[in-house]
Amino acid sequence: MIKPWIPALAALVLAFWACNLPASVPPTETPLRMTETPFQIKIAPTDLPTLTTTPIPPTSTPTPTPTPTASPTPLRGMFRLSVLVDTDSQTVSREQAQALVEEASTILARLTGFGFEMVDFQETSGTIDAILAKYFASPGYTTSDGIIIFSHGDNGEAKLYGGYGFARRGPKGFISRFQSPFVDKNSVYIGVVHFGHRYAACGYGGNEEPVSTVSIGGECRGEVGTACVEKHGYQMCSNAVNELYASTPTYFSSATFVHEMMHSFGENENMDHYFTPECTATMQRLASRRPYKSQTYDMAEADFYVNMCPYVFDVFMDSYRP
Ligand SMILES: [Zn+2]
Repeated sequence: MIKPWIPALAALVLAFWACNLPASVPPTETPLRMTETPFQIKIAPTDLPTLTTTPIPPTSTPTPTPTPTASPTPLRGMFRLSVLVDTDSQTVSREQAQALVEEASTILARLTGFGFEMVDFQETSGTIDAILAKYFASPGYTTSDGIIIFSHGDNGEAKLYGGYGFARRGPKGFISRFQSPFVDKNSVYIGVVHFGHRYAACGYGGNEEPVSTVSIGGECRGEVGTACVEKHGYQMCSNAVNELYASTPTYFSSATFVHEMMHSFGENENMDHYFTPECTATMQRLASRRPYKSQTYDMAEADFYVNMCPYVFDVFMDSYRP
């Protein structure tokens, strides 16, 4: 059955684009998690926000280690998430989803002062479009600001890259509580995330089981022959084990889902990654007060910002319309 919002939705799909590696990042410095390929749907670009007055939470100083507890300051608000599990490709329990939302909430809180809250959890299946259509039309639909779909994604893209994101018009009458100036005000923010993605996998060559004791193909930032070590129950590049993204078995997935949500709050589409030329130019133009080393690629800083350009968090904070 065609729901009334579907034709309108089709008209909103003005552009797709894929996230690629920022050209400015030297090959040897290419962060592995930036190989994800989000799609973004640009709907209604409007005026750029003013970003000079947003106060930054005191906890937002870059640090190479994750904050073990939730933000010590009171949260400014909660970004409500519906979590859907595509059972065709992923098995994720409600408890696992809740734990991931809490980990992602800690990451979001130290960057913006907002937290994530899981308001719905459902198992589903189908293409990503079908899953969303079914969910929005169902009697069990719970209004939320964003939807995380644990899935391999259409064409396996989330499995390959870790995740991708886009904005999609919500059901009739839906108004975003987080109104990004770069998408329609009826947008729901969507992240398709591969649960259990192996950060810095080593010696797999695309296989489920390891086939080598050293890196092969493009693993370990293309450094062929890097030793693989056991961590979190799989083989990891030995030079990645102390990185923030390797700090917990689920950090990559948690950070990816913050990353994908934030894409809709940037003006440069797939170039809103950390340290792209567009990022540096936007950071200079908008006078964001967040620390940003515009001259050199800083991996700890990149990881701290979940590999997004810092200004997107200012846009996110300013978008709140409770
Ligand atoms: Zn991205």
